[in-house]
Amino acid sequence: FWSDVPQAPLDPIIGVWADGRADTDPRTLNLTAGAYRTEEGKPYLLEAVRRAERMLLDDPTQHKEYRGMKGDPELCRVSAQMAFGEESDVLLRHRNATVQGISGTGSLMVGAHFLSHHQSVKLLLVSSPTWANHHSIFSGAGFKLQPYRYYSPATHLLDYEGMIEDLSAAPEGAVVLLHACAHNPTGVDPSLEQWHGVLRVVRQRRLLPFFDSAYQGFASGSLEQDAAAIRLFADAGLEMLLAQSYAKNMGLYNERAGALTVVCADAEAVKRVESQLHEVIRPIYSDPPAHGAAIVTTIMKSPELYGLWKEELVVMSSRVALMRQHLYQALVDLAVPGDWTHILKQIGMFSYTGLTKEQAVEIVNQAKSFTKRIFEWTDTSSGKGAIDQEQFFKATSAQY
Ligand code: PMP
Repeated sequence: FWSDVPQAPLDPIIGVWADGRADTDPRTLNLTAGAYRTEEGKPYLLEAVRRAERMLLDDPTQHKEYRGMKGDPELCRVSAQMAFGEESDVLLRHRNATVQGISGTGSLMVGAHFLSHHQSVKLLLVSSPTWANHHSIFSGAGFKLQPYRYYSPATHLLDYEGMIEDLSAAPEGAVVLLHACAHNPTGVDPSLEQWHGVLRVVRQRRLLPFFDSAYQGFASGSLEQDAAAIRLFADAGLEMLLAQSYAKNMGLYNERAGALTVVCADAEAVKRVESQLHEVIRPIYSDPPAHGAAIVTTIMKSPELYGLWKEELVVMSSRVALMRQHLYQALVDLAVPGDWTHILKQIGMFSYTGLTKEQAVEIVNQAKSFTKRIFEWTDTSSGKGAIDQEQFFKATSAQY
């Protein structure tokens, strides 16, 4: 049956990751996947999460019953509240159809398939560049993807004029995918003033905004600040979609907790829209996983854990910002040619360095040959293969 099945190409991110894993140099850092690391280079289990899990373990009301397509209604409530704000008209007038999703990816997927049935213009405008998975998710749901200018290779910052021009030329009714904050992969976000400009075009062209919010609180450390664009659009009374992920901001990567909201014109539309979201969910996974959602709601409902989580958000986002500072400083100290200030201006865990593909490949190759030489050197100098890094750097510093 499968003799003609071709080998699928490696995912561009996972492919580099696999290459890095094969590298035995103890100093090799994995900078490919978007996952937070501690000062020791280890994954970080948030203390708020650890405590929430302990509480859940001791809670006699917990069970593993089916819950239905919507998932955990509490998760839906707190997620919408976190994104739109308690006083939002969307919540006060019950204009949100919110369902639990399988983290950000699954939430985007449900949104894409809902739109494929109920949105007449099957065109998705995406930033150039965007997270590679957006292409797979939306083209799989029957959308044609059209890039709008976003990243400027000249400044390594936002090409605001290009973005506005491209959105202004979009056909009415097209869907526009917007990264709520900490744009992946560039780290380039519009300023609040620029978001006002984007909103103006979205209204003029009657575009349907679809916000992808994978980093709320993780970018700036403030849940409110990172939701500014979402709230601006929601407060303008627009219908829109929102996919949320708790992978980064709660470190719940493999728990797959998230939510999808379709903001409707009124509460009556919510009922119908939600029934259609259930139609999408039922044949794919029927019931979303409960544990991650229970962690999220336990944290959100406990003032103590909520406070602790907000502190941990500041710890994580500050460390990411500090890493940017260190990288920038190292480049300056080494007098690497060029202006590297964009590394400080970009936000979140991704940085578009401005290196060309050829330069990046050269760095990887240099690193590989560097590792090889460490082992050759240690083999001949100590005979044991043990790496004395300090001695090695002294002996070889002239070359590097
Ligand atoms: N959207 C964007 C822009 C992302 O960067 C990510 C995480 N890499 C996601 C969505 C979804 O991630 P997850 O499915 O793990 O929540």
